[in-house]
Amino acid sequence: MIAYTCDTADPVKEAAHLRFSSDILPRADELGVRLADRLISLGYTRDGLDEMVRRFRTASEIFREANVPLFTEVEQLGTTYQKITGGLTVSWDGQEKTLPELQPLMQSPDRKVRERAFRLGIQTYVSRRDGLAHLFDQLFRLRQRIAANAGFADFQAYAFRAKCRFDYTPADCLRFHDAVEEHVTPAVERLHQRRRERMKLDRVRPWDLGADPLGRPGLVPFSMVDELVQGSDRIFNRVSPELGAEFGTMIREGMLDLGTRKGKAPGGYCETLHARGLPFIFMNAVGVADDVSTLLHEAGHAFHAYSAHAQPLVWQRQPGLEACELASMSMELLAAPHLDRANGGFYDEAELARARTEHLEDILITLQHVASVDAFQSWIYTSGEGADGAARDQAWLRFRSRFEKGVDWSGLTAERIGRWYRQLHIFLYPFYYIEYGIAQLGALQVWRNSLSDPVEAVRQYRAALALGATRPLPEIFATAGARFSFESSLMGELVQLVESELVKWDKVQPR
Ligand SMILES: [Zn+2]
Repeated sequence: MIAYTCDTADPVKEAAHLRFSSDILPRADELGVRLADRLISLGYTRDGLDEMVRRFRTASEIFREANVPLFTEVEQLGTTYQKITGGLTVSWDGQEKTLPELQPLMQSPDRKVRERAFRLGIQTYVSRRDGLAHLFDQLFRLRQRIAANAGFADFQAYAFRAKCRFDYTPADCLRFHDAVEEHVTPAVERLHQRRRERMKLDRVRPWDLGADPLGRPGLVPFSMVDELVQGSDRIFNRVSPELGAEFGTMIREGMLDLGTRKGKAPGGYCETLHARGLPFIFMNAVGVADDVSTLLHEAGHAFHAYSAHAQPLVWQRQPGLEACELASMSMELLAAPHLDRANGGFYDEAELARARTEHLEDILITLQHVASVDAFQSWIYTSGEGADGAARDQAWLRFRSRFEKGVDWSGLTAERIGRWYRQLHIFLYPFYYIEYGIAQLGALQVWRNSLSDPVEAVRQYRAALALGATRPLPEIFATAGARFSFESSLMGELVQLVESELVKWDKVQPR
């Protein structure tokens, strides 16, 4: 997979990758299930295996032969969604552009350009609304059948079990939504208000959110990929000598392929080579601020792989996404104080202020979005109205207006509805989203701890990663120095911290 994504034009690598993913992997999975069943039937466990056995047992308990063909149908509908949405293009001044290619235009200082890019982009979904709604109708029915076959009242209950969410319930997620509404929504509204003043706008429209409020061109943290590698190496060494040494090994062993080039697959990932005990990071860096944050994020996953490698079995190494993203999101925050050029990082003072502001604002906006998507999915599968396409669109609007305030969507109802059809998780990975919110709350606590004692915060962070998948989530979080909690008071405390940090950076920003 690594060889292929680094060089998709090589037919030999392509064939090997195809053979692995379509021939070897499904059979390995099948054998894995049989091995797991044998272990369960032995009734054997020991310290450090409990979590693994619990996951195996859960998978076996919810397995139904009758669901196998239904999953194949779900898979096929997912492929249809990807086919419809993957190749979307628009015509810009007679030139064909993909939706990612519209992104820079959405950041233009020219409001008219932004609006045109926004409308063109979302229109591709608005015009396909009926087809996508029909596709979702089928997914909805299949998923509810899968749940019923396995003896669950609805697909939400099934999904919680299938995802091995042993440590929180749908009711906890409702508390998370309430906490977002109480603390994050007003904070983001204040961000929009400040943006409106900065940009001297009468009102903030959806196409105003991507632009720099001061009209500056994008940050250029580096020009050569080697500068990205060396700068990050210095940063990790400042966060901790151990992490620096691990990153240094990745450099020496050729475990980084970061630059973009023709023939490379798009996107980024961190994958672990379990036999060698080494993580590999893949990216398509072009020299923008996002590349720096992406590398810090993926390196967090890599440090997780290093620490968890001490666990003898591969099943003991990778915990749920809540803990995996705790590793990566914490690293983005732990590395932040070392991003300035004076310390070997990438930014001068004003640039650093801007990069920090963008990151912290993005954290709040993401929490708000996570709440919308999660509340909406919960409604779809439990309200009894999820099969009704028009009711779904209305429900999305309700959740959106509950969590997102301060943006003027008047005259843009169809466009606002169009947003959920673009959220591929709802189609392809149902309920796969709240994990990011939970992980972010943990990461913000790790960061909060680091502000008073950075050495101890990193020690706790590494101790949590070393637990791999051997302990329940609340214990992993506690080891990291974080509470695994959906309480409004915790959310309030963390949002306040982010806002006070934003005020601090705002003083450094030019007027
Ligand atoms: Zn990640």
